[in-house]
Amino acid sequence: MSAVDRILDKRLRGERLDLEDGVRLFESDEIEKLGHAANIMMQRVHPDPITTFVIGRNVNYTNVCDTFCTFCAFYRIPGSSEGYLLPDEVIFQKIKETEDVGGTEILMQGGTNPNLPFNYYTDLLRNIKLRFPNITMHSFSPAEIRKMQEVSGLSLEQVVRELREAGLDSLPGGGAEILDDRIRKQISRHKGTWRDWMDVMQMAHKVGLNTSATMVIGFGETMEERALHMLRIRDAQDQCIENKYDSKGFLAFIPFTFQPDNTGLKRERETPEAYLKTVAIGRLMLDNVPHLQSSWVTMGPEVGKLSLSYGCNDFGSTMMEENVVSSAGAVHKVNINSILELIREAGKIPAQRNTRYDILKVFKDGTQVERDFVMQN
Ligand code: SF4
Repeated sequence: MSAVDRILDKRLRGERLDLEDGVRLFESDEIEKLGHAANIMMQRVHPDPITTFVIGRNVNYTNVCDTFCTFCAFYRIPGSSEGYLLPDEVIFQKIKETEDVGGTEILMQGGTNPNLPFNYYTDLLRNIKLRFPNITMHSFSPAEIRKMQEVSGLSLEQVVRELREAGLDSLPGGGAEILDDRIRKQISRHKGTWRDWMDVMQMAHKVGLNTSATMVIGFGETMEERALHMLRIRDAQDQCIENKYDSKGFLAFIPFTFQPDNTGLKRERETPEAYLKTVAIGRLMLDNVPHLQSSWVTMGPEVGKLSLSYGCNDFGSTMMEENVVSSAGAVHKVNINSILELIREAGKIPAQRNTRYDILKVFKDGTQVERDFVMQN
């Protein structure tokens, strides 16, 4: 039996993988074998042949940012004539359009804008919830929350609690990049350490919010750093479960690849194989995170479809807008009926879910949505 076979066998027998196992898997090029084992593990958690998706919209409310990540093509420095802050009415209109097509989730995220006081966020959340009580606000990355803490002078716990009271429902996992400080110092040294990112996530779990975790490969990280990223998420999830917080912790893991176009960071684009391998290893290592989300927005619909055989059970959001990734060259846009078609082509049954992953509607046979998204910015 080869070393990889032994590791896969260990996992299929229900044992946990360790750092060394993870590194060995990342070094392997037997991606079909990894995908096969990951698919078996996925089916143990999700026995029905259903692939879920959420109808949602990204609202990039500001591009003003003082974090200056070297890989980011989206931000503008404070004072730039190209900087913007969306007026509240524009944000409300975008949410209304989302609800009009059956959408349930708003992923509001932007730069770390030093000009915004903390009550900008709490007032905005309250006003959104007044107008749209049924919309789920899955919003703000740890870097934005850290900025709110800095401008307000409040503790991290106060900031997260006040956001929750104002209407924040859930936290997306943006800004994780690679959860190790060697790489973070090179690409986003003002964004804080991996521990800073994790502290925000763990605080969110403590106050009862669910979150997700992303991972971006292709910054020049080692295989050990990739495996460590996953173990750090798994450890935090263990702590959430042990502490019996009123939160499910990390509901989903979302890996994708760095998109180098238009950024100041020159790197080779990671291959679809490297992406699929990361997906499979994520399913094998993260035994306590239930959902694995495909990243068709960066990888393209065809690779997205393939990822459903490598451990993914979810097709993510319809992503009505995505300015951050599209600024860096990922321009795959898919409407809802195309998502239904892709999921069916992969041999699965599509189902609309909410942010908590409760299934809202199963699209049996050839059924389609009545009103599709009009893609617009
Ligand atoms: S990735 Fe986010 S935090 Fe970094 S520069 Fe871009 S907008 Fe700012």
